[in-house]
Amino acid sequence: MPDSSARHALVIGAGLAGAATCAALARRGWRLTLLDAATGPAQGASALPVGMLSPHVTRAPTPMSRLSALGVAATLDELQRRVPQGHGWRTCEVDNLGHHPGRWPAAMVRPAALVKAWLDESAQLGLLECRWQANVHKLLRQSGLWQALDTHGECLAQAPVVVVASAYGSHALLTGASSLVDGDALPLRPVKGQMSLGELHEAPWAARPQRDDGVFVPCYEDAGLAPQWPTRLWAMGSTYERGENSTHLSASAHERNAIGLESLCAPAAAALREAQAQGSLLGWAQVRCASQDRLPLVGAVPDGKTLEERMVQAGPRRGRMSLAETPRHDGLFMLSALGSRGIALAPWCASRLAATMEGEPTPDEQADLLRAIDPARFASKRARR
Ligand SMILES: Cc1cc2nc3c(=O)[nH]c(=O)nc-3n(C[C@H](O)[C@H](O)[C@H](O)COP(=O)(O)OP(=O)(O)OC[C@H]3O[C@@H](n4cnc5c(N)ncnc54)[C@H](O)[C@@H]3O)c2cc1C
Repeated sequence: MPDSSARHALVIGAGLAGAATCAALARRGWRLTLLDAATGPAQGASALPVGMLSPHVTRAPTPMSRLSALGVAATLDELQRRVPQGHGWRTCEVDNLGHHPGRWPAAMVRPAALVKAWLDESAQLGLLECRWQANVHKLLRQSGLWQALDTHGECLAQAPVVVVASAYGSHALLTGASSLVDGDALPLRPVKGQMSLGELHEAPWAARPQRDDGVFVPCYEDAGLAPQWPTRLWAMGSTYERGENSTHLSASAHERNAIGLESLCAPAAAALREAQAQGSLLGWAQVRCASQDRLPLVGAVPDGKTLEERMVQAGPRRGRMSLAETPRHDGLFMLSALGSRGIALAPWCASRLAATMEGEPTPDEQADLLRAIDPARFASKRARR
């Protein structure tokens, strides 16, 4: 366990990943400096007006179905303890209509409410300082401290430890000016998503959320929704546009949502198209961050330069390099690539990350899962080729 002077971390990114990390570390007594390029918390993908917390059901267990089962339980516990129902979330059931059909317990969640609860908790412990409009361009390690530099090379903040939780921004930060990891060793992709939504004036078109290729939320009421949204709304989403890194709304994405909605609830699809024709349809688009294998990246960041040197030294006779042998940067961690499942994955991943940062042993039954989400998995595979 690091001594108290070393228990100060910069956390870069104030969405679900960064805020969950702050709460997990503050509970262990860490001092935190949270930096985000935006003017306040939850302004990236975590600004989602309403999303689903529901299990990822598969016939046989997969790393994602196991992660999602652990994650759903962890998030539900956080919601129940820290956010009053009706002010950021509501329990419900969801009908799975496509693969693995069935009805599952679920919750409709506005992620910004969780982000706020976690940051408030860390601030109440007197352990959090937030820096907004702090766009971190480069990370530099100097005399045992990590410095977060802006585009002019000015130091925004420094600490012995950094957690990069900046979603797709993590890629530019770690592989760009900082040159800490090779691009190939950190295969992150942007995936744009657009949700269609509208004010609900009448009775909902369905009794509960319906899921197939997308999810239809027939009615969500939340006293804390941002002023641009109605307090009682329906929503359908979301598109999955691989490689797209923009947040503009498009009519074609609304139409894709309408097509998805036809098989879930035909009257709602007709209402979506009518609202579009009348100009009353609302939309929200943001960018998810997904890894090549769709699993998150949680843990110590691999050290690209040292790895390259070891590969050159070993030459063509080099043997296998296990994950445990893959070199890492001292004090540099990440929690990123939450894809379409940030609500379910953020708190469980953040609490595992905090345990790893404090050198706690991994429970045996989770060891393979933690290897599956280790940020060095791609670097270690490349080293074996
Ligand atoms: C349309 C849509 C629908 C979705 N539906 C669901 C759903 O139903 N259920 C679900 O679980 N998930 C859903 N998601 C996914 C979920 O929103 C994300 O997984 C989650 O919000 C990601 O959280 P994050 O903290 O990793 O990223 P973000 O919330 O995007 O936060 C990243 C932060 O990093 C900051 N940043 C980036 N680069 C830098 C830098 N260089 N310096 C400083 N700050 C930086 C950004 O400003 C941003 O605030 C959906 C996403 C979309 C787009």
